[in-house]
Amino acid sequence: MLKINEIFKDIQGESSYTGFSTVFVRFTGCNLRCTYCDTVYAYYEGNDLHVEDIISQIEGYTCPLVEITGGEPLLQKDVYRLIEGLLKRNNKVLIETNGSIDIRGVDERVIRIMDIKCPDSGMSGEMKWENLGYLRGTDEVKFVVSSRRDYEWSINIIKEYSLEDRLTVLISPAYGVIEPQNIAKWILNDQLKIRFQPQLHRYIWGAEERRTDP
Ligand code: SF4
Repeated sequence: MLKINEIFKDIQGESSYTGFSTVFVRFTGCNLRCTYCDTVYAYYEGNDLHVEDIISQIEGYTCPLVEITGGEPLLQKDVYRLIEGLLKRNNKVLIETNGSIDIRGVDERVIRIMDIKCPDSGMSGEMKWENLGYLRGTDEVKFVVSSRRDYEWSINIIKEYSLEDRLTVLISPAYGVIEPQNIAKWILNDQLKIRFQPQLHRYIWGAEERRTDP
């Protein structure tokens, strides 16, 4: 049984899969409280669903790309049963996780997109730094940057853990907090092998729009 906030199909707005049609399964509950959180509605709202029922809802979309997100999906132990069921059905599975929970239990066929929480999120002290050692070349890490201070902090972490050479590194502007142009200029000046990542879904649907089926 899993507590699920919503299941819907949308254009993927983040990660290297940006632009692809994706079914999102949003888990209820998060152990963090980031200052810029745009899914506050997922902290408590949701319905208890059997794994089999979730899979049959996903199958109804006939869309092979599925993203498990939240909230924080790794807080619910049956997430692993859901992953297993989706992989058995040949879905491509992405999971977004906030970096504070051990990621080792996630099947190696799954693309793990792990946040590294910057200081302005208020949550960098909650990071489980050992996770950086568990990342694979197919995984991605994401920094949501709110200020120059966050940007410089991110660059230090990228260098300290050689992230640029190991996997895809995404830098996203915190929406409405910092001008995307500023971050773009900093990245260009620094000649870094990292991917600038504005949240595409915000540009399609608007800042306030909650992402549900069209
Ligand atoms: S980890 Fe994600 S869902 Fe949790 S508070 Fe931060 S932004 Fe919101």
